[in-house]
Amino acid sequence: MDFLYQLPHDFLSVSGPEIEKHIIDFKETELPEYEGYYACILDNVLSANECANLIRAAKAQANGEWQQAMINVGSGSQEIDTETRSCGRIIWDNRELLSKIWARCQNLVPEILELKDKPGITGSGWLKKSWTYRLTRLNERMRFLRYFDGNYFRPHFDGSYTTEENEETSFITIHLYLNESDEDSQLEGGATTFHALDWTGRHLDVIPKVGRVLLFQQKGLLHSGADVTRGIKYTMRTDVIFENTSRGLITLASNDPITEPIINPNYYSILADKEMLRSGVRRVAQMMETPAGREIIEGETSPKGMPVLTSSASDEEIDTRVRAYSEVWHHSGGTAAMGKDVLSSVVDGEFRVHGTECLRVVDASVLPAPISATPQATVYAMAEVAAELIALSVS
Ligand SMILES: Cc1cc2nc3c(=O)[nH]c(=O)nc-3n(C[C@H](O)[C@H](O)[C@H](O)COP(=O)(O)OP(=O)(O)OC[C@H]3O[C@@H](n4cnc5c(N)ncnc54)[C@H](O)[C@@H]3O)c2cc1C
Repeated sequence: MDFLYQLPHDFLSVSGPEIEKHIIDFKETELPEYEGYYACILDNVLSANECANLIRAAKAQANGEWQQAMINVGSGSQEIDTETRSCGRIIWDNRELLSKIWARCQNLVPEILELKDKPGITGSGWLKKSWTYRLTRLNERMRFLRYFDGNYFRPHFDGSYTTEENEETSFITIHLYLNESDEDSQLEGGATTFHALDWTGRHLDVIPKVGRVLLFQQKGLLHSGADVTRGIKYTMRTDVIFENTSRGLITLASNDPITEPIINPNYYSILADKEMLRSGVRRVAQMMETPAGREIIEGETSPKGMPVLTSSASDEEIDTRVRAYSEVWHHSGGTAAMGKDVLSSVVDGEFRVHGTECLRVVDASVLPAPISATPQATVYAMAEVAAELIALSVS
């Protein structure tokens, strides 16, 4: 009968209990070598009742069948390896449910909504380092895990997940603990344990607590699911997904200063750009399809070989048209971005080119990111500030 269970339509729609946040400061733990690594605990994200319903719904999804959890062995393949991982697993894809769970967390973790200059989390390649990653969502693939007495997941690093289109990637793991030791289940063990890399046994345990969320960076944090020594542990794990905001690149074509540089604006390269343009194009078409719109415009004369774009045009049709016919509207900037980091910016906070003396850039090119307005007034204000700084430096 329980196999027919479905979560109520309004599941998680009423606000939950007050959430408590605790960022793990590794410097103050037995693992100071992880100083600056990201790990955060949010308590009371779900109530005990909500967790119980979630377990019930996951079981119903899988007709009550827990599969042996596998491990990733690269190239998208998985293998059973009970020496490393021994627990039951149900996989359930549900983006809507995860967005409800994330809605309870996201305002509490502003520090990860945008990742920039965080090579410890996103990678240290110089190009990667200069990108800004924006948190988009949780991976829709929920992995419900059931650990019986004697089950474990030996020390490992979590891998990063990248979507098929290569547009989004994960940098952070999220664990939701769905039960704890109580009268019904005397759970013992089962902590998520962070380990020292030198195998000296130094460690830090995060204890399963019902409704608790643990977020931690995937890169470089050695951890395990400690043995459950009594009772059953239930958790749900998935990934926190980011996309890189689109950044262009200017590089030198040669060492001849007169030669034009190579400019790659990298437009339309990320999902957010595409979604915005797709929605805008459909909206305009929709307006034109109303009786009022029809009075003014009969229809679009499309470019040769391309279909007329209507409000029901496919993503592909819109993408092809945008790529072929869109252009920027005279508000270029950012080619000599201002910033602290010498690898991802050109000038410092006083408009001085990093690594040079007596060379400043003062124009729209120092804007570190496009502004949500026309730029002229900002350029004037920047010029006033720069003039004062220059006057001060020579007086
Ligand atoms: C058609 C158009 C309409 C716009 N409308 C608006 C608007 O309505 N509102 C708004 O806020 N912004 C608008 N903008 C954007 C705004 O004009 C620019 O963002 C702003 O002028 C950028 O300032 P800047 O100092 O970086 O460059 P610029 O204003 O372009 O100044 C660069 C100056 O350097 C000179 N120069 C270039 N090379 C050399 C050289 N080798 N030696 C000496 N001098 C050189 C150029 O002649 C120019 O005078 C518009 C832009 C365009 C093109």
